Amino acid sequence: MERIYLDHCATTPVHGEVMGEMMRFFGNFYGNPASAHAFGREAKKALEGARKRVAALLGAQPEEVIFTGGGTEADNLAVIGAALAAPPEKRHLVTSAVEHPAVMNACRFLTRFGFRVTYVPVDGSGVVDLANLAQALTEDTCLVSIIHGQNETGVLQPLEAVCALAHARGIPVHTDAVQSVGKVPFDIEDLPVDLLSIAGHKIYGPKGVGALYVKKDTPILPITFGGGQENGLRNGTENVPGIVGLGAACRKAKRDMPKFMDHTGRLRGLLEAGISAAFPGAMIQGQKVARLPHVSTISFPGKSGYKLVRELDEAGIAVSAGAACHAGEERPSSVLKAMGVPDEYALGTVRFSFGWSNTEEDVERVLEVLRRVMKKIP
Ligand SMILES: *Cc1c(COP(=O)(O)O)cnc(C)c1O
Repeated sequence: MERIYLDHCATTPVHGEVMGEMMRFFGNFYGNPASAHAFGREAKKALEGARKRVAALLGAQPEEVIFTGGGTEADNLAVIGAALAAPPEKRHLVTSAVEHPAVMNACRFLTRFGFRVTYVPVDGSGVVDLANLAQALTEDTCLVSIIHGQNETGVLQPLEAVCALAHARGIPVHTDAVQSVGKVPFDIEDLPVDLLSIAGHKIYGPKGVGALYVKKDTPILPITFGGGQENGLRNGTENVPGIVGLGAACRKAKRDMPKFMDHTGRLRGLLEAGISAAFPGAMIQGQKVARLPHVSTISFPGKSGYKLVRELDEAGIAVSAGAACHAGEERPSSVLKAMGVPDEYALGTVRFSFGWSNTEEDVERVLEVLRRVMKKIP
């Protein structure tokens, strides 16, 4: 049985082109970029080449790109680093109710050190309430952190408006763009955030490597300490093969983005049309608002999303549930709860996320399997 991978929001395979570029840096080109000899210079050159490619994807300057050990670390550095760099009277952060745990838990950590956090609510489509956000901003707000493309629903946030509101008060804005950059057009010129996180493994690059865009002159302190690498903001010898892979993945994403959007958007359309026809009661999350092209989060009322995932897995289809199952007890996702999705729907939620490898035949098989398993599961 040929397996079908429909979980590209969880991770993607490393593309052959990306792997090809990385291999040399596991082999003969093993120098430390800090070394003052030919081996070091080769590694340094590769590092700076990758930095240019990441910057090009974002529309940023290369010196504004800080390599990190992944998306989580980029988020942590942005939130904690910006909070610590703020003047001592600014002890308030504004974020949303639908952030990735890498932002949510970094904010929560800061509350142990005297920071206050406001979680701005979202509407039924999962879009941040701008009026509420405007009200949340105060004299002592040091950072606004709002996710760009939400990882559970694919819903895109109105970042332009968020930036306008925060910048009018001189407050820097961070965005977790791990799911969106490389999938939808993005340019720092149009969306003038001050800090932005990306990760290699969500865009056909390697795991354990990411980057934080830090706009020139944005106040930020490091959260790791050592030899001063990455402008002193991410200390420790750089993951050269990983960074080369991230650079290659960014170049590929920039080049192939229109095709990616067409390909995945078309397949998602087929899936959603098929599901709406077969299961009229199903609710497509964020259907009426701007979403990432490759993500479809669908709630089947009265069903167990967790059991659906297991049944699909048995049929060779990999998807994610919108609910977590702890010790046999299923809990609705906090993101869907924040959107006001009733538990009956939230618990029956499945996320399908498409990638390059998927085909129309995949969609047909998913629909066929869904029709079969839906009858037998509670
Ligand atoms: C995957 C993901 C992260 C975490 O990135 P890692 O590289 O896995 O640490 C952060 N934010 C979002 C939105 C993600 O989807």
